[in-house]
Amino acid sequence: MAYIQFLGAAGTVTGSKHLINTGDYSGNSGFQVLVDCGLFQGPKEWRERNWQNLPIAANRIDAVILTHAHLDHCGWIPRLVKDGFRGAIYATPPTIDLCGIILPDSGHLQEEDARFYNKTKKSKHDPALPLYTFEEAQKSLEQFKPVLAGDSLDLSPEISFRFVRAAHILGSCMAEVSLTTDGQARRLLFTGDIGRVRDHKVAPGKVVHSGPQEGETADLVVMESTYGNRTHPKEDPLPELARLITAAANRGGSVVVPAFAIERTQKFVFILKYLIESGQISRLPVFCDSPMAIKAVEIFLKHDEEYTDETRDMIRKYGSPLQWPGFVFASTPEESKKINDARMPSIIISSSGMVTGGRILHHLAQRLPDPRNLVLFIGFQAPGTRGFAIKNKSAEVKIFGDFVPIRAQIEALEQFSDHADPPELLQWLRTFRNQPAATYLVHGEPDASAQLREQMQTELGWKVEVARYLEKVRVA
Ligand SMILES: [Zn+2]
Repeated sequence: MAYIQFLGAAGTVTGSKHLINTGDYSGNSGFQVLVDCGLFQGPKEWRERNWQNLPIAANRIDAVILTHAHLDHCGWIPRLVKDGFRGAIYATPPTIDLCGIILPDSGHLQEEDARFYNKTKKSKHDPALPLYTFEEAQKSLEQFKPVLAGDSLDLSPEISFRFVRAAHILGSCMAEVSLTTDGQARRLLFTGDIGRVRDHKVAPGKVVHSGPQEGETADLVVMESTYGNRTHPKEDPLPELARLITAAANRGGSVVVPAFAIERTQKFVFILKYLIESGQISRLPVFCDSPMAIKAVEIFLKHDEEYTDETRDMIRKYGSPLQWPGFVFASTPEESKKINDARMPSIIISSSGMVTGGRILHHLAQRLPDPRNLVLFIGFQAPGTRGFAIKNKSAEVKIFGDFVPIRAQIEALEQFSDHADPPELLQWLRTFRNQPAATYLVHGEPDASAQLREQMQTELGWKVEVARYLEKVRVA
């Protein structure tokens, strides 16, 4: 009588949480496993769900399986622990290392937000409280248990799981769950986020190995659909990137790149090194202004089992990015300030990736008004963020309470995504050894999920549904 219940990332791209219960529909019996435990982000109607209790008590959940270290998959873990969850959180060693910097940082931001609301009295809650604190996030790390990709682990007599590569970010995996229900063995596949099939032209600068594991078998699949209605541009972005950087430098301008501190920044640093060493751009100073990005580089260096061959070769040849001549990793505020004093053309990579906060604000406030500069977007910009406004070339943008005129050149390269698009997803799904009895699409905006469903039904003949929030699905 086992069932799955979708507790998040149903009808939206955030808040991934899928409950497996080996008991009956009441939810009171059986072994209960949560696959992913992500934070809702974006519009308020979703974010408010971070404050609602799950339909089952946190202390009734026996284990968490975590696919990867993005906040929309792991960011609710400290809250689950705060609410009484005492079980193990299973993740790969790189995911655990990345959570070690991401979750405490998230707690710190939650505390800052609460402080801001209390100061400005902008919250209807008095006093405004953090969802969880830095310390609570740190404490939740004690419950993490490492599981290597490929190793099987029994969670109870009727349920076991194995991680297989998803190639989305460092440490990311899918969870293959085997469960016995009504005397029958069933295989459930939770994809988490799915990376891109290996191809230099479409997935340049990959730090981790590319391509999800092929040849899967599953009775039921719970699959992401972030890019269900969009196809990535297929042309190699590096010539265009080199041209844009060179043009900005030739007119005496700098290049400012807002980038997520983890994965995207490391990937871009490798791309710049490649362009410099192959003579495609001149040796401009590269500033990486994010303390989190530095910690993430150290984690990347520790897990060389995940590199592509090219990345391994580059590290063998040039050593750690933290030591590359001409590359400056700023960790202290003083080092960050020095970047602003630099007057010569340079490349500045800083976070947050969607310009919602962080040190990127200082760099943009200083450089947006000058038409010699280039602001280059290499990641998704959600509507409503400053990044979205700048990317869409609004006349000005509010930073630190002032309106800053946007006169710099604004460009965006869309090829650096870490999510497979529909042709890449179908290419992977065609490698399955069987046709799953049911597939549920999660982690997509309604239109994206609907279009991918249509395409999978037409081209593969699979039975596909779009998961609904709180819907329970029987594993038959
Ligand atoms: Zn992700």
